Amino acid sequence: MSSLGVHTVQSIAASAVLYPFIGEKVVPFGLAAIFIDLDHVIEYIRQTRSLDVRGVFSCCKLIENNLDKRFLVFNMFHTVEFLGLIFCLASFFPVFNYVLAGCLFHLACDMVRLLRSDLFFVRAYSLFEYIYRSRTGRYVLSVKNLVEKHKPDISGISGIRFWLGKWGWSQDEVIDATPDLWGNCKKK
Ligand SMILES: [Zn+2]
Repeated sequence: MSSLGVHTVQSIAASAVLYPFIGEKVVPFGLAAIFIDLDHVIEYIRQTRSLDVRGVFSCCKLIENNLDKRFLVFNMFHTVEFLGLIFCLASFFPVFNYVLAGCLFHLACDMVRLLRSDLFFVRAYSLFEYIYRSRTGRYVLSVKNLVEKHKPDISGISGIRFWLGKWGWSQDEVIDATPDLWGNCKKK
């Protein structure tokens, strides 16, 4: 779970390394390594019930800021089932081999980052894993619930109050440690 910018840089660097070996096939590889994150948009719509996708980055940052609050992350393109689907498609259309490689590269980058932050298990890597873990009652499953009941840290997320209002969520519990112009932190 890195930012779009980070994934774009990783994708371009990996494509540059691979170009001498696979030529123009780096295009499906590189595009897949970036656009696999489109599932964040699907998850955003599911969570916020808003079709105004300009709020996606704020929503993602909100989740990232609060990964220590047992929020269970699910992104359908980042699952073994989705990779299995691409794998099947690859047996009919060889170009999907490169799409699959791009997806695996992206997932590996995400996993290394999560491992380094000791947050590897905040994400479910399979639909069945998500269903199983979500039924244990040990995880926060909705971002609305995270915001309204788990004192989320909204520090440094530009426009987040606008979006919370737009999604119709209460802001009573949020904690904002962003320093104001005078360097003081306001608590709420
Ligand atoms: Zn990702």
